[in-house]
Amino acid sequence: MTKTKDLRQISLEGVSSFDGINTMLKDKGSNIRLAYAETVTKKDNNNRASGQTIFANDRTKQLTAHWVPNDSRRNADGNNLTYIVWDIFAPANFGFTNQFDGTAAIDASFDTWNTIKTNAKLEIVKRSNTQSNPSFILSGNPFLADISQVGFLPGIFFETYVGSGSSNNVLGVTFTFVFIDEDGNPTDINNDGADDTALKEVWYNDDFTWTDSGNTATEIDLETVALHENGHALGFGHFGKISVTKNNKLHVSPRSVMNAIILGTQRTLLGTDQASYKSIYGNWPAN
Ligand SMILES: [Zn+2]
Repeated sequence: MTKTKDLRQISLEGVSSFDGINTMLKDKGSNIRLAYAETVTKKDNNNRASGQTIFANDRTKQLTAHWVPNDSRRNADGNNLTYIVWDIFAPANFGFTNQFDGTAAIDASFDTWNTIKTNAKLEIVKRSNTQSNPSFILSGNPFLADISQVGFLPGIFFETYVGSGSSNNVLGVTFTFVFIDEDGNPTDINNDGADDTALKEVWYNDDFTWTDSGNTATEIDLETVALHENGHALGFGHFGKISVTKNNKLHVSPRSVMNAIILGTQRTLLGTDQASYKSIYGNWPAN
């Protein structure tokens, strides 16, 4: 089944490539720049592509970025982090008989990240689904929440902004934007050794067939991918070593939500995910 590419109400106005995003932001006089994008791929033995981190080409140092608690530059909701879902692109499999609203699975993924409370006080707070475009890349208003769940975008958007071939193998992508100073250098106002995250933007690939009831041979479990992407939204990178076994199967060790490929339905956090969480949010301040 070939899915038609439905652009609905947005266009590729202005920017036409990953590298064009920062030129656009500079031209707008913004104090925010795209730092990197992280992708995840499907387990597929015919296609050995795995998730990657793509750094913007104007970055001199390839540091990761972390959220700064109560950062006034992004109108932070105190020490909470907020997310919002773009209602228009929330339906998975749009226009097909198996269409469903992806909001519940996205919410469930954040609920799961919210369940780790070992010493951490971070609360991730949902804002009501919006009709307004929350995408910085697609000329919307990205300041509706810290983490914009842009939703299911046609594969052509992945080809344009993530890279050639990505419409066929990238399930989702998280874009990380950071604050820059007057000289154009990324800031680190709390001296934690990481650039300061300004906002995050998460896309899901509408060219795949999605499900809300667990991975199958042909369907991708949305909650599994959302849990992974929203791990990136919280600042976690990929984890685990990918190898090919003697009988030509892909193997990843140790298993983790943050593995660069999706091996199957994974809606709970594993040991390494909890350790990563603790390393970044173990000392996050209470509200
Ligand atoms: Zn990833």
